[in-house]
Amino acid sequence: MRVHILDDGTFVTDAGNLFGGSRKASIKGAMHPVLVEAGDDLVLIDAGFGPELPELLVGRYELNRDENLLDHLDDAGYAAEDVTHVILSHLDADHVGWALGPPNFPSATVYVQEAALEEARQMPEKDGRRAAVPEVEKGVEEGWCELLDDDGEILPGVRVEVRSGHSAGHQIVWIGDSDVAALYTGDLAPAKIWLDPDLIAGVDTDPEAARRNRIEVLSEAESRDAPVILYHEPEDCLVRVRSKGDSFEAVPIGN
Ligand SMILES: [Zn+2]
Repeated sequence: MRVHILDDGTFVTDAGNLFGGSRKASIKGAMHPVLVEAGDDLVLIDAGFGPELPELLVGRYELNRDENLLDHLDDAGYAAEDVTHVILSHLDADHVGWALGPPNFPSATVYVQEAALEEARQMPEKDGRRAAVPEVEKGVEEGWCELLDDDGEILPGVRVEVRSGHSAGHQIVWIGDSDVAALYTGDLAPAKIWLDPDLIAGVDTDPEAARRNRIEVLSEAESRDAPVILYHEPEDCLVRVRSKGDSFEAVPIGN
């Protein structure tokens, strides 16, 4: 099994968009979808913003990139049609872009938790999650999208686990067998600053679950000594975590 950390550029947004309130600070994030070579299968975990910044976010987010996810996929030696499985941690626009509306992976099944879809249906009209609903429903109807209703193994060595909080039905991914597992945390702990269990985003729909799940998952990552892939971390997106008081710190893993 081989794992590539890909790239779909970086974004800059007002901190208020992530933390709530009206802080006058900007925050930068990267997008690092993950590609897993698993025998004859090729699994992509999360799918960036897509070809361009979604209409809904224009003016609130700035997207910067010279190369996009498909370019980086190409650098890794693969074409879009080689991808056989796409796992979406949840339905926010910065995670589903290349996978939905329209889908860019013609051979892939896209995996979404049913609870994430159900929550997205309840979101306000202009919410990014809500915008993904028609695409997912179309995918289910056409047979390229599969709804999951709990933890499960997508392929041997690629296991999703529901860890809600940031959204309902938010799923993380354990990659590898029990000895050499890597962890993809999605937006449960998407960057180094988010390793602090008390730092809860204004956009988390269940802050208490986010906090509890972050502590449980990062504790497990530490006890398994698992490399952790941080989707939104602009620097050092591959780390190990160590507990420090009531929080966790990141120990970068060199290239
Ligand atoms: Zn995100």
